Amino acid sequence: MFSLQETGGAAVDRHERTSLDPDDWQALRKQGHRMLDDMFDHLHTLATKPVWQHAPSPARAKFNGPLPIEGSDLADVHAIFREYILPYGSGNIHPGFMGWVQGGGTVTGMLAEMLAGGLNANLGGRDHMPIEVERQIIRWTREIFSFPETAGGIFLTGASQANFVAVQIARCRKLGRDVRATGLSDESRLVAYASSEVHGCVPRAFEMSGIGSNQLRRIAVNELGQIDIDALEQAILRDEQEGFTPFLLIGSAGTVNTGAVDDLVALRGIADAHDLHFHVDGALGALGVLSEELAPLFAGIEACDSLAFDFHKWGQVPYDAGFLLVRDTEWQRQTFASDAAYLSRAATGLAGGDWWPCDYGPDLSRGFRALKTWFTLKTYGVKALGDSMSANCKLARRLAERIEQEPALKLLAPVALNIVCFAYVGADGSMPALVNSHIVERLHAEGRVAPSLTHLNGQPAIRAAIVNHRTRQTDIDALVRSVLTIGSQQDLPQC
Ligand SMILES: *Cc1c(COP(=O)(O)O)cnc(C)c1O
Repeated sequence: MFSLQETGGAAVDRHERTSLDPDDWQALRKQGHRMLDDMFDHLHTLATKPVWQHAPSPARAKFNGPLPIEGSDLADVHAIFREYILPYGSGNIHPGFMGWVQGGGTVTGMLAEMLAGGLNANLGGRDHMPIEVERQIIRWTREIFSFPETAGGIFLTGASQANFVAVQIARCRKLGRDVRATGLSDESRLVAYASSEVHGCVPRAFEMSGIGSNQLRRIAVNELGQIDIDALEQAILRDEQEGFTPFLLIGSAGTVNTGAVDDLVALRGIADAHDLHFHVDGALGALGVLSEELAPLFAGIEACDSLAFDFHKWGQVPYDAGFLLVRDTEWQRQTFASDAAYLSRAATGLAGGDWWPCDYGPDLSRGFRALKTWFTLKTYGVKALGDSMSANCKLARRLAERIEQEPALKLLAPVALNIVCFAYVGADGSMPALVNSHIVERLHAEGRVAPSLTHLNGQPAIRAAIVNHRTRQTDIDALVRSVLTIGSQQDLPQC
């Protein structure tokens, strides 16, 4: 039996020691508290700092150093972090951040990350409590989306990975488990469907799967940015007549450009009629079901076969925390389980446990993403998260109204959720579209608000994606004010 006395207090020769633990835990403790306080201060005073600032060359040069052969003091290393990393983040935690679609993170999530780091759990499998925490999240996720008891799920890096895994699952469902060994044959002729507004990670999933992105039919959208149902049905019928094998239909619950939600009820019907796996990419919007006010927008999401979404976007869990929910967890096993000898299971003991995530997804070693998610859901509750999403959408609607009242601005897409795409068009409506890319660059440099630039029908658009729980009306006002100011300074013939 291990006894404390054997090692306790015994002086260990410095040269025999290989442990990386500190000699002086007291000093470490002090330094650790300083680091923690520092981050609290940073988060507490965020709004007084720029959203983003360009990292100067001395900062970049710090990270072009030689490989450290000998170690340095933790306090010194932390000082480098404070000076050269902390001020030069991408800004997504800041209330003025509206670029792309990124979550703001929370203090609770940060603390949970620290605990998870201390535990250093590996959630590939085995019998330990962290696995139970992930299972708790799966059960809660089932409840959030009204999925049946048969449903399973798994944490992944993000929705890009979750969409990819869903393609693998759909492929196995259509062609059978043997396809894992045989690969696709010339006769497979798999084809899938999504709208032309589907996120770029979806065609990439087809490239990575070996099916090929040409086999993803990108269907036109209607004026609301939703997949055109008639065009979809025609495309499926045409493919069937030509001897292809339609196997997968992908709906969007919040398109990346404009936040449009496809008609998920209609898509379920089409998937049933043609024996397709019905997957939903809900990276951006799906968690909106937590808001009573927003939930009706996602009608039908409860009936999909698999759902990719991100706790790290609207869920505000710190990066990364993507998730795939699957209607029948057996489909996951069929796609991923294998019986390697070094992973053999025991009836009891550490090698026991009846749910090993490595059987349900592509990863073996996996971090404890479930802990920061569990802390977030427990400490805030899903009501507060839903309220924050409603508040984001309200700000988006107000912004859209403001744009429509302002002759120099033009709303470029309907606002279904939390994304507003617009352009500066000048007082007479004739401003060259290129001005808008300049405006966005200037806004980034000024550091008060940071929208991003996208293109809608080939036209540059300023895109404000309001995802952060810290964003307020004053940030929206600052956006409008700054766009008008910078735009009015651009009275040049061409920019
Ligand atoms: C962000 C996003 C993705 C990709 O998700 P990651 O978590 O960044 O991998 C996919 N689809 C949509 C609609 C997104 O907004």
